[in-house]
Amino acid sequence: MLSAKRKTGLVFFPAFDWSVSPTHPEREERLLYTQDQVMEEGLLDLDGVVEYRVRPATYADIRRTHFCVPDEAAVTTESHLIAAGGCLVAADAVMKREVDSAFALVRPPGHHAMRVVHGNRGFCNINIEAVMIEYIRDVYNVRKVAIVDTDCHHGDGTQDIYWHDPDTLFISIHQDGRTLYPGTGFPADMGGPNAIGSTINIPLPPRTGEEGFRTALDELVMPLIERFEPELIVNSAGQDNHYEDPITHMNFSARGYADLTARLKPHLAVLEGGYSVEKALPYINVGIIMAMAGLPTATVKEPNYDTEYEAQTPEVDKYVDQTISTVRKQFITSQPPPDINKDGRIIERRRNIFYDTDMIQELQTERIRRCRDCAGALWIESSSSRGYRILAIHVPRWACPACQKQARQWCESVPAKTYDKVYIQDRTKNSYTVI
Ligand SMILES: [Zn+2]
Ligand SMILES: [Zn+2]
Repeated sequence: MLSAKRKTGLVFFPAFDWSVSPTHPEREERLLYTQDQVMEEGLLDLDGVVEYRVRPATYADIRRTHFCVPDEAAVTTESHLIAAGGCLVAADAVMKREVDSAFALVRPPGHHAMRVVHGNRGFCNINIEAVMIEYIRDVYNVRKVAIVDTDCHHGDGTQDIYWHDPDTLFISIHQDGRTLYPGTGFPADMGGPNAIGSTINIPLPPRTGEEGFRTALDELVMPLIERFEPELIVNSAGQDNHYEDPITHMNFSARGYADLTARLKPHLAVLEGGYSVEKALPYINVGIIMAMAGLPTATVKEPNYDTEYEAQTPEVDKYVDQTISTVRKQFITSQPPPDINKDGRIIERRRNIFYDTDMIQELQTERIRRCRDCAGALWIESSSSRGYRILAIHVPRWACPACQKQARQWCESVPAKTYDKVYIQDRTKNSYTVI
C-alpha cells in the first residue's frame, strides 16, 4: 500500500449552509466534488494522511487581526468562524509536529478581507490565513512567516494586513490587475515605510500557463523566501488559475498546481478560490494533497486535459520573463524615499475601499509611525457608506517602547463623541478594547 513520505494533515469544511447567493460561484457545492474525489483516490486511507475535525474560531482569535465594524457578530456567521477555526486546527497539527504539513480545505475564503472589516469583499469576510498566522504567533511564538498567495486574484486583504509588517513576507502571484478583480497588486507596491520589500507582487498576463508560474517560482519566489529565512511558509492556495475556471483567464492544470506545491513545500496551505467546481477543483485539490504528502503527481490529470489544455504561447513566455525582471529590479533598487526615512515621523495615506459583494464604500485615513525597530504604531480612521465612523489603533506584536508610547498618546487624545466606536488592539498584551 502507498504511504505518504511526509505526514500530511487534512481539515475539511465544505460549509453546506453558506453561500454568497444560490447561483453565485462561491456556493455550497464548491467542495462536494472534491470530497468525492478525495474518497475515490483513497487519499484518506493512505498511511500518513490524517484527517482532523474542525472547531470554530473565537471572537478573540479574530481580534488579533481585524477591526470588525461594528463587531464580529455583525460581519461573520458560524461558517466563517469554522472556516477560520479549521485553519487553526491545521496550524496546531503542524506546530505540535503531529504532521509535516497540513491543508485546510475550508470555505468561505478570506484573502480579500482587510484589517478593517465593514462587510464582504470578493466573497471574503474575515482573513482566515491572517487569523491563523496571528494565532500561531501568539500560541507558538513564531515570528517570521512567508505567505505565498497563488490565487488568481491579487490577495489585497492579506497585503493590507501585512503592509507594515517587516516580519511577514507576503508574495502574491496573480492575473494582472488591469484585467481582473480587485484591480490591484503591481510591482511598485512593495510594503509600507517600515516594511519596504516585504510585500512582493507578481502580476502575470492572462493565459499564463504553468510554465510561467514555474519560472516565477524558481527565479523569484524561492530565492526571495530563502533570503527571508521564514520559520513557516503558508500557501494561500487559490485554485482559480485553472484553464476551466469560469471567472478568470489563466491556463493552469491540476498537475501544474501539484508541481507548484512540490516546489514551494508549504507547511500550511489554506484553500482560497477555485470555481470550476466539477471539472477542475477536485483534481487540483487532490494534486495538492499528493504533493504535500510527497507522492508522485505525474499522473494527476483532469478528465479533459488531453483534449482541452494548450501550452503557454511564446508571447506569454516573453511577457512573463519581462514581468519577473521588472519585479526583481524593483526589489533590488527600492529604498525608502529620504523624506520618510526619519524615525518617529507620522506618515499618512488616504484610501477608498470598495466592498463589491456588499456594495459598501469605505473611506480610510491611515497614520503609521515611521520606525526602524518595529512594525510601527498604526492609527486608522474609517467611515463607511453604512454610516459607521470608527477609529482603530493597532499596537504591533513586537512594538518598541516609542511606538507603544505613540499609541498611548493617540488613545489619550481621542476627541469625545467624534466616533461611533474606538478600538484599541494591543498585540503586546494580546488585548482588544472597545470604547
Ligand atoms: Zn480568486
Ligand atoms: Zn517602533
